[in-house]
Amino acid sequence: MSDHFLVVIPADPKAELPDTTTALRDGLASLAGTDEARVKDYGKLQFIDCGENFERITCPKCAAEISDQQWHAWMDEDWHGEDGFHLHRHETPCCGESLNLNQLNYQSTQGFARWFVGARNTNRGPLTSDEIAKLEGIAGLALKGIAQMY
Ligand SMILES: [Zn+2]
Repeated sequence: MSDHFLVVIPADPKAELPDTTTALRDGLASLAGTDEARVKDYGKLQFIDCGENFERITCPKCAAEISDQQWHAWMDEDWHGEDGFHLHRHETPCCGESLNLNQLNYQSTQGFARWFVGARNTNRGPLTSDEIAKLEGIAGLALKGIAQMY
């Protein structure tokens, strides 16, 4: 059986852990209907993935699919070991758009962040936009919702 988690990360990858984190964790736990919720602070930029919910990556400019091979090559270039990821600009092969990896369209949602808040999800779907808006109100900053399956 798969493990499911509801995760939120700051929309701004540079955002440090806010002092609203405990309230955010509790709000997410309440929406997930669990007391298994946690805060993870990496102290450096990491990629927060969606696990088996991953389908594809597309260009935000022209909607062409970005190949796994291309994406992994960019991930290798952006990885600075102990220092985590640095979001460099890359030129897309489809339309020559210059952008960083956090600006690509990920299905389902994934992103780069220095921290995340996650809760085990046993019986519901992904966070709705209304629920994310509610959590943004608690956190005091813009968030991205990620539905993880492993
Ligand atoms: Zn493109």
